[in-house]
This record gives sequence, C-alpha cells and structure tokens, in this order.
Amino acid sequence: MMSISENIKHITSQIPENVTLIAVSKTKPNEMLLEAYKSGQRHFGENYVQELVDKETQLPKDIHWHFIGHLQSNKVKYIAPFVYLIHGVDSFSLLKEINKQAQKNNRVIDCLLQIYIAQEETKFGLDFNEASDILNSVEFKELKNIQIKGFMAMASNTEKEEQIRKEFKSLKEFSKQFPDYNTLSFGMSGDYLLAIEEGSTMIRVGSSIFGERNYTK
Ligand SMILES: *Cc1c(COP(=O)(O)O)cnc(C)c1O
Repeated sequence: MMSISENIKHITSQIPENVTLIAVSKTKPNEMLLEAYKSGQRHFGENYVQELVDKETQLPKDIHWHFIGHLQSNKVKYIAPFVYLIHGVDSFSLLKEINKQAQKNNRVIDCLLQIYIAQEETKFGLDFNEASDILNSVEFKELKNIQIKGFMAMASNTEKEEQIRKEFKSLKEFSKQFPDYNTLSFGMSGDYLLAIEEGSTMIRVGSSIFGERNYTK
C-alpha cells in the first residue's frame, strides 16, 4: 500500500499545472490530513460543517478549506469566517445567505454553482436553465459579498465511461456562456483523468489519497 504522500505525488504527477488537486478528507483523522499537509498539500475538501469547523481550529492556518458537501442555509455562519471556496451552491436563497454571512465577516466568499448533470435522481444541483436564470438576474448582480468562480458537478455513479464523458462535456459546453466563471470542479478518485480531459480545473480526490472511507455519516 502506498502512503498518503506517495499517493499525492502520484496524482500530482498525472495532472497539468492549471488543475488544482483538492484532497477530500471527510471522516479522516487530523493525523492523515497533517501527513498530506507535510507533503505540500494545501487544498482540502470537507462535506460536514461541524467536522470542517473542528479541523479548521486544530490544523495549520494556511490550509485552503473547500466546502464540497450539501450546505444548509442555517449553517453557513459557522464556515463563513474562513471557508476558501463553497462548491455546492444550489439555490439563490443559499447564495443570499452566504452573501449575508460574508458581509458580517467583512469578506467576499468565492462560490461555485452546483449543476445537475447526472442521470440519477439523488444528486443535488441546479439544471442549466436555473443556473442561467440566477446568473442573469438583477438580484444576483446586487450580491457584493459573493464571487461566483465557476461550476461544480458530479457525474452519474456508473462504470460507463462514455456516459460520464458526455455529462462532463455538457457542463464544459454550458460554462462557455460564462467565460468569467472558469473554474470547473469535477472529477473524483474514479474519474479524475477523464475529467481533466473534459476540461476540469479542480479535481476532488478522497479515497485515492486517504484510502477507502470505512464509514459514512
Ligand atoms: C466524497 C466526495 C468526493 C471524493 O470522492 P472519492 O471517490 O473518495 O475520491 C468528491 N466530491 C464530493 C462532493 C464528495 O462528497
């Protein structure tokens, strides 16, 4: 079995320089994150607010914390002081709440709109029309304490490479209408190389770095 730092080195060697590797550390203990940190990793992704808040207080201050889970409006306030990028914004009301909490903290919070590209019913996200409607609305332009950087998506949970590729392509194609929003967060342990081929600029990799998660919350 390879170590965490070897896993990171291996993945980094496969990806172009313009692609950011986010180490998805949900459910993993601080010691494992520190091992990744010591090998130079600075971008970490977490799915649960309380776990993220705990880790942020305990780990080095120069870590860039990405929130990649489903965010409830009433919990935005806990991560607003420090979060680096919120990936899963899937409604205008959530965006408004992020803006409000960012304002309270006297900062601008970077966000990605989560787009629904999978065939499954279970995934969160906006469809392309809903995302366009938000980005073109007057109310959106009035939000001064959030900055949309781009889009995040998850492909269908399938072995069929052509299906996954098609879904990633659809997001890349959609994003061309909004050239200022050029961060594309897609690709995980199983499909990050394919994702990069299809234009991903941010991959979220968990199990290929830290090993399988043996429990889920
Ligand atoms: C857990 C998770 C990942 C990482 O998944 P792996 O298959 O372990 O790489 C990526 N993105 C999101 C949104 C996740 O919840």
